[in-house]
Amino acid sequence: MALAYIGLGSNLADPQGQISAALAKLEQLEHCLVTKVSSLYFSRPMGPQDQPDYMNAVVAIKTSLTPLDLLDQLQSIENNAGRVRKDNRWGARVLDLDILLYDQQLINTERLTIPHYGIKLREFVLLPLAEIANELTLPDGDSVKILAEQIEKNGLKVHSKLR
Ligand code: ATP
Ligand code: MG
Ligand code: MG
Repeated sequence: MALAYIGLGSNLADPQGQISAALAKLEQLEHCLVTKVSSLYFSRPMGPQDQPDYMNAVVAIKTSLTPLDLLDQLQSIENNAGRVRKDNRWGARVLDLDILLYDQQLINTERLTIPHYGIKLREFVLLPLAEIANELTLPDGDSVKILAEQIEKNGLKVHSKLR
């Protein structure tokens, strides 16, 4: 079994409800076991500012799915939540599920970049990740705890418990 971290985000159609429904879906996925769940965080949008604020969380899963099979499952959860892919990058979305890490693997293919390229740049990923994986180091040796301490918080707040 691999240990993977998934980042969840939503800023449309009841973001809090979207994140908790997505968590329930992840908990029902075959060949996956959700082992840790961060708090739900409230965050400011990245990129275009003319969109609602976000809710974000990070979960840890143990899985026997390959990274690509995991991506397929996550995209089908996104699609079932009504995600519509648009041309505008970082625009508003009902649900975003990104694979942040998959063990210590480095993957660079057309469909997958792992570690996710945004981990070190995004407070709404680093803080929830550090909450559930304080001792974790990235494949390049950087400490998640130290990265989370150093990043600009940009208004990020714990909103509530998810589990
Ligand atoms: P960002 O990638 O900046 O967070 P986004 O999550 O909104 O933006 P999406 O529209 O959800 O981007 O995904 C675009 C494509 O990114 C997907 O079709 C997927 O193939 C690819 N992708 C590459 N690496 C990953 C990853 N680690 N997790 C999820 N999707 C990934
Ligand atoms: Mg994303
Ligand atoms: Mg995505």
